[in-house]
Amino acid sequence: MALPSQEQDFPGWYQEVVRQADLAENSLVRGTMVIKPYGYAMWEAIRDALDLRIKQTGHQNFYFPMFIPARLLEREKEHVEGFAPEFALVTHAGGEELGEPLVVRPTSETIIWDAYSRWVQSYRDLPLLYNQWGNVVRWEMRPRLFLRTTEFLWQEGHTAHETREEALEEAKRMLEAYRQVAEDVMAIPVRLGRKTPAERFPGAEETLTIEALMRDRKALQAGTSHYLGQNFAKAYGVTFLGRDGEEHYAEATSWGASTRLVGGLIMAHGDDKGLRLPPKVAPQQVVIVPIYRSDDERSRVIAEAARLADLWREAGVRVKVDDRDDLRPGFKFADHELRGVPVRAELGPRDLDAGQVTLVRRDTGAKGPVGIDAAGDTLVALMDEIQQALFDDAAAFRDAHTKSVTSFEELRTWIEDPGGFAVGGWCGSAECEAKVKAETKATIRYLPLEGPEPADGPCVVCGEPSVDTAAWAIAY
Ligand SMILES: [Zn+2]
Repeated sequence: MALPSQEQDFPGWYQEVVRQADLAENSLVRGTMVIKPYGYAMWEAIRDALDLRIKQTGHQNFYFPMFIPARLLEREKEHVEGFAPEFALVTHAGGEELGEPLVVRPTSETIIWDAYSRWVQSYRDLPLLYNQWGNVVRWEMRPRLFLRTTEFLWQEGHTAHETREEALEEAKRMLEAYRQVAEDVMAIPVRLGRKTPAERFPGAEETLTIEALMRDRKALQAGTSHYLGQNFAKAYGVTFLGRDGEEHYAEATSWGASTRLVGGLIMAHGDDKGLRLPPKVAPQQVVIVPIYRSDDERSRVIAEAARLADLWREAGVRVKVDDRDDLRPGFKFADHELRGVPVRAELGPRDLDAGQVTLVRRDTGAKGPVGIDAAGDTLVALMDEIQQALFDDAAAFRDAHTKSVTSFEELRTWIEDPGGFAVGGWCGSAECEAKVKAETKATIRYLPLEGPEPADGPCVVCGEPSVDTAAWAIAY
């Protein structure tokens, strides 16, 4: 079945790509998701890249239980109020009503900081640099596969430090790890910024974010890193004997990225034919489609395809031979285009006679013959080229849909059509922020940490002097 076009029906396009490319499906409980092998392989590639960077920056993985006593959560007021509407509560287990209800973790600051109160006594015990991979539950009223699901997979880092400076540095370091995974691995250009108080993580003093722009010109928050100050240390009694002989509260960070990144991958690169996967996260980088009419041709072409697949695998390329006998080549071409395989290699009797193979790029559609002996090297080079081309393409799209605005009217017009980031001055007031949200649905996605946006003139909403430059967009 043909996909809806992105321009006409982006949500329908997204839903059909997820379904037809076999990435995931809805499960029996509303909002929960079955991640199918092809979608899970994409997640694994992202997860592995992130895990590598988490470890390279000195962190270790650990694991905490998914059940948290409700009373434990209640100790950090802002935190519990922020998450309470999304709690899933266990009241019965083991055939009886529980003495106290358990919350299925929506995030683990509370139970982890409760443990840190036992793990930390002296400055010598610090810093604690830990991360966990797991699942969390946040009851979702308007679910969408990968983007908003009641249960999702993620990592959550939880660190404890002696000083505020150290904790702030840590929060920035992990934001940089997210930037690297987004840009260098997923080929998604991101802007780095701070969140406004209204958009912060409940209980955080500062939330840092990476924000990307999707093909429908909506923003996606792709990873957040929080400086939590001493809020959790105070709520859970994490004190340590400092170098000065005095008791101090520990300083905290937490940072997370989730399976929503798979949704970002789909929406940042996809086109009307389906996915376009960056080679670094593509489960298969090259698929060989054998073309034949007779049994003789078949055995000859399949044998050569298998030989080439081995050679290319040795060169470090993830390659698969599509030898499904019941499907015509044209169907296979469309199928691999839908699944976003970076390169298709067509191999028929005429190619064999000419000592060549025909390579077709998914990202550009460029097609041409390559000598069979040189094909391995060509493919290795092509992987880098395609990775970069997808990044450049997404960056050009993002830049073309980022506009400096100087008035509320200009902001509103841009958000309505074509949409994207509208960047302008902001006075820092929650009223101006709320007004834009009420009238345009756009929220402040980030206050830039870097990048080309100038600190613009007065607040685009009220005309008072600005305290920050803000980037507004409609967001997922
Ligand atoms: Zn204002």
